[in-house]
Amino acid sequence: MAQVSSGQLSDEEKLHILQRHDQFRPWCSLDEKRYCLVCGEIITGREIRVMRDKGENGPQRVTCPTEDCNSTPMEWVWPTDDVLIKIAMVELECHHRRLIARAASAMRSLSKKKARNAIDRTRSEPPFG
Ligand SMILES: [Zn+2]
Repeated sequence: MAQVSSGQLSDEEKLHILQRHDQFRPWCSLDEKRYCLVCGEIITGREIRVMRDKGENGPQRVTCPTEDCNSTPMEWVWPTDDVLIKIAMVELECHHRRLIARAASAMRSLSKKKARNAIDRTRSEPPFG
C-alpha cells in the first residue's frame, strides 16, 4: 500500500477523489473541514491521505491524516457548532479531570503526612496520660 504523495495530485484531482469516495457528505473545496469521530481531530480536505491499495493502478482509498487513525469518510462529520462545543467540553473535562487528579494526589500526600503525625503523637503520648 503506497501513499500517493500530494505532489502527484493537483488540488482538483484530490477534490474529485474525495468527492468520489465520500458519498456521505459532499466536498466543494479542499479547504473544507471535517471532524474525525475516530481520533477526534479536525481534518481538512487538503490533509486527507490518498492511498492506493495495490501499486499504481490499484483502488484508491482516502483515510484520515492522523497517525494511526485509518478512519474513512463514513466517520468524518461536519464540524457543526454542536460538534465544536462537544470538542471544547471534552477538552475542558480532560483539563478538569487532570486538575482533580492533581488535587487528589496532593490531598493524599497531605493526609499521609497527617496520618504519620497522628501515629507519632499516639506513640509519644499515652492515651490516658
Ligand atoms: Zn482520524
